[in-house]
Amino acid sequence: METVIPPPPVPSVAVRGLSAVFPIHRIYCVGRNYAAHAREMGHDPDREPPFFFQKNPDSVVANGGNFPYPARSRNVQHEIELVVALGRGGSGLRDTESLDWVYGYAVGLDMTRRDLQGRMKKMGRPWEIGKAFERAAPCSDIVPADRIGHPHTGAIWLKVNGEVRQQGDLDQMIWRVPEIIAHLSEMFTLAPGDLIYTGTPAGVAEVQRGDLLEGGIDGIGVLCITVV
Ligand code: MN
Repeated sequence: METVIPPPPVPSVAVRGLSAVFPIHRIYCVGRNYAAHAREMGHDPDREPPFFFQKNPDSVVANGGNFPYPARSRNVQHEIELVVALGRGGSGLRDTESLDWVYGYAVGLDMTRRDLQGRMKKMGRPWEIGKAFERAAPCSDIVPADRIGHPHTGAIWLKVNGEVRQQGDLDQMIWRVPEIIAHLSEMFTLAPGDLIYTGTPAGVAEVQRGDLLEGGIDGIGVLCITVV
C-alpha cells in the first residue's frame, strides 16, 4: 500500500520466552475496581456497573524502561494493575466464554496526571489529559494463559524505591476478568491485540523524578520502571 505519509509503527509488547511480540490494537482501562481504592478516591464501592476509559496503544513503556515525568502536572500518580491481553475479538460475549478470548496476562501501570483528571471530573469533561498522555501505560512482558492459566487470586503490589505503597489481591476485584470482558464487549467490538487494564488496589500516590517503581503480581511477573 502506498501511503502519503510514513505509516505509524505498530506498537507491541514482548511475550515472555518468545521472540514474536504481541501487537497492540487498543488499550481499555477499568475505573474503581477495588473497593478500598474506590473509598480512597471518595466513592462508595457499591457494585455499580463497571466503567471504562481508554489509553493510546503507543503509550506503552516496556519493562525496564523510563517514564518521563509528563508536562503540565504537579501530581502524577502510580496505579498498579493486572493487564489482560486478548487473542480473539468480537462483541456480545457471555462471561462464561470470555476467558477463551484471553491470550495472556501482564503487570501494568496506569500512570495518571491526578490533578488534571480531578479538574476534568469536576467540570464533567473527558479524562484524556489525565490518563491518555505519552508513555502513560507501562506494561511488563505478557505471559500466555496456556502457560499459567487464568489467575483469579494472587498478591498485587507496588514498591517505590523499595518501600511498599500499594498492596492487594486479585480476589478483591469488584468486577472479575470474565465479567469485565463481557461488559466491554457490549460497548465495543473487541479485537485481537486489545489490552485491558483492570483497575488498581488502594495506596495510589505521587511519583517523583528518580523514583524506581517495582510492581508485581504473583504468578505473572514484575514490572520495573524509572521516573525520569
Ligand atoms: Mn486505573
